[in-house]
Amino acid sequence: QEVRSTIDYGMTEEMVGRLASDDQSLLHRARLLKRPVHSSKQVAHESPLPYPYYMYEVAVPVLDPSKEHMIACIYLVRYRDAFTTEQMSDILSFSHQLSLSLLRMGIYEEMIREKNKTTQLLNSIREAVVYIEHETDELLVNEPLMTLFPEVPTTFEDEERSAFEQAMQALADIIDEPAAFERYIEQIVELDLPKDSLIVSIRKHSTYIQIYAEKIEVDGLWVGTMLVLRDVTKETEAERMKEEFVSTVSHELRTPLSSIYGFTELMLNKRFKEERQRKYLQTIHSETGRLTTLVNDFLDVQRMESSEHRYEMTTFDVVELAQDLIEFYDVSHETHIIDFEARGPIMIDGDAEKMKQLLNNLLSNAVKYSPNGGTVLIRITNELGFAQIRIQDEGIGIPQDALPKLFDKFYRVDNSETRKIGGTGLGLSICKEIVKHHNGTIDVESVVGVGSTFTIRFPIAVISTILTYED
Ligand code: ADP
Repeated sequence: QEVRSTIDYGMTEEMVGRLASDDQSLLHRARLLKRPVHSSKQVAHESPLPYPYYMYEVAVPVLDPSKEHMIACIYLVRYRDAFTTEQMSDILSFSHQLSLSLLRMGIYEEMIREKNKTTQLLNSIREAVVYIEHETDELLVNEPLMTLFPEVPTTFEDEERSAFEQAMQALADIIDEPAAFERYIEQIVELDLPKDSLIVSIRKHSTYIQIYAEKIEVDGLWVGTMLVLRDVTKETEAERMKEEFVSTVSHELRTPLSSIYGFTELMLNKRFKEERQRKYLQTIHSETGRLTTLVNDFLDVQRMESSEHRYEMTTFDVVELAQDLIEFYDVSHETHIIDFEARGPIMIDGDAEKMKQLLNNLLSNAVKYSPNGGTVLIRITNELGFAQIRIQDEGIGIPQDALPKLFDKFYRVDNSETRKIGGTGLGLSICKEIVKHHNGTIDVESVVGVGSTFTIRFPIAVISTILTYED
């Protein structure tokens, strides 16, 4: 419909312009007729020659494959002699070749466009995707796959094994228990597509991945398989928390409730001696205390999450605060020796009540999780501008694989020793929140059967630094 560009030789600009714009020109006739057109005419006075001459023109259209549109046109003009048959045949075959080349270029451009579209589509999916073409062993991966699993290589050196197998091996290497995954991949390789999805944990249970495979068919033929990997850590965590919440509530609420219910019923129905009665009442009292702690923990977590929690910030001596707390413990725990090493004052900015709650949680865990007694050592030191509090026990210890989840809500180490010792799995999650609000850090080191050490660090209050300096 329009002349987009011209390549010319031996023609004036004016001639080219006329050819393109004049609808009577040979070029336009070739376009309309969709075949080569000739013309010969005698020209009298016109340029480019000053005397009458014959002018022979030929326009050969280069048509698209459907032969419906002219995509280019070869225009030749010569003076005096007509084009020979041989010349004409050369021009025609050239136009034919040109049309084929343009066609190939068009297909290639279309392919590139399609490929870009597919790449963009794949990359816009949040899930990691691996596509394997069975016949050619071509492997396509999207960007999320490379971000989620940087361990998967993009070039494959081992010529013995397919790219797919090598990529899957790299994935298997980061899966905690790869047996099920390896079976899943084997099924795909053997073209026996697994129907269900598979959930695996990777990198030491820190992330959960759901995997499912989809068959890609072209004309009823299974040409490739798409493997989709979805990060389901949040969902899995929520599910785990729900399960643990139900199990905690059923155990921690039911046990004290049934003992309160049982003892009160007993006392209502029967008369007991004063001493006996007192013993029962003591049990009811301590079980009620347990329930109160539980409910308070629940509420604390809930409030902390809804950011309703208010912190009353003051500057106080953390050594003095710990000392008061330990004095109370000293008298109430005979099986444990509580050692305290600190030289105060070490001033920090914070909410004193919350700080008490934090130390209390850690201290009571240290006592609770050393059922055979032992020494609990609390040491507070000034470490280059930070108050460092270490609470070290000689208790049952914590298995290495439990450490990353220890501060999660409702998380409790899953073994018989911990189960025997009651708890809600909320204490440490509350500790973590309090520490976070005080710009501090909390860490744990532990050896099973030897003991655990919890270390918390807070920035020392500015005023305290000045006092130390003046000292
Ligand atoms: P709870 O004690 O109510 O179960 P926490 O959040 O305080 O909940 O602790 C979570 C888990 O961490 C406990 O169930 C226990 O398995 C483990 N834990 C905490 N402190 C210690 C410790 N000092 N020694 C051994 N295990 C501990």
